[in-house]
Amino acid sequence: MDLQLKNKVVLVTGGAKGIGAAITRMSAEEGAIAVAVDRDASACQQFHDDLRSQGLEASFITMDLASADNCNVIVEQTLASFGHIDALVNNAGINDKVGLEHGNPKEFVHSLERNLLHYYNMAHYCVPHLKRSRGSIVNISSKTALTGQGGTSGYVASKGAILGMTREWAAELLPYSIRVNAVIPAEVMTPLYQQWLETFPAPQEKLNSVVAKIPFEKRMTTPDEIAAMVVFLISLKASHITGQHLFVDGGYVHLDRALT
Ligand code: NAP
Repeated sequence: MDLQLKNKVVLVTGGAKGIGAAITRMSAEEGAIAVAVDRDASACQQFHDDLRSQGLEASFITMDLASADNCNVIVEQTLASFGHIDALVNNAGINDKVGLEHGNPKEFVHSLERNLLHYYNMAHYCVPHLKRSRGSIVNISSKTALTGQGGTSGYVASKGAILGMTREWAAELLPYSIRVNAVIPAEVMTPLYQQWLETFPAPQEKLNSVVAKIPFEKRMTTPDEIAAMVVFLISLKASHITGQHLFVDGGYVHLDRALT
């Protein structure tokens, strides 16, 4: 299937590691101009070199998305380099364990800054350009928005709000033919996930207990399986899909966990 992404500019936040890196790579493989935004400079350099060694190209903007001004600069820089923006993939986030009991109001707001505000800011600054390209937005949420996790109020509030904003933006942007969808992963092995596992006293045991509860094939989702959905959604092959919440989770959220 030709996704017709050749020369489309695809902006991916958190695009140098984990799920974002898979989206960057797959977009480049499809002939798109992938622009990865990430604060991890060494990951950007290493990923850039990896892609090059495989005959692939992507652009990198090393910046923290934490301020609205930075988001504006990222969008303007992309526009100055490539002249158009065809897709925004809001992906960067961190499960930062700011809980209800073990948290505080200040940390809660910081968690929203890390996980939510830059989704709005990036979309806000991209809209004028997406109007011209009739482009699309994909927001990465998390199963925790629906299932909860415990001890991570800021992250879960953000992921829930991202699902709400997806529907809201899909409605607002109908007149411009800009599609907006969300992808909901559950358990994907990435540097962030590894970091989270290491917060448990016995990470391997924790991993085994998680994997045992994933209905489809008792295995983690791969970053490429998330990326395949995202790349499809930003393509014209998904030209009548908007306002949707798409679960790529091996049945984790909806199937009966008692199934064997
Ligand atoms: P990851 O392995 O940590 O990769 C994310 C990348 O984004 C990292 O390089 C990170 O840099 C960067 N980043 C984070 N915040 C940033 C910011 N403010 N400015 C610039 N760069 C930033 O994460 P992942 O597991 O691929 O997760 C990607 C998305 O999927 C997140 O939104 C996450 O909530 C969601 N998700 C993941 C899973 C899972 O199982 N992995 C499940 C559900 C949802 P640092 O390393 O410096 O933080």
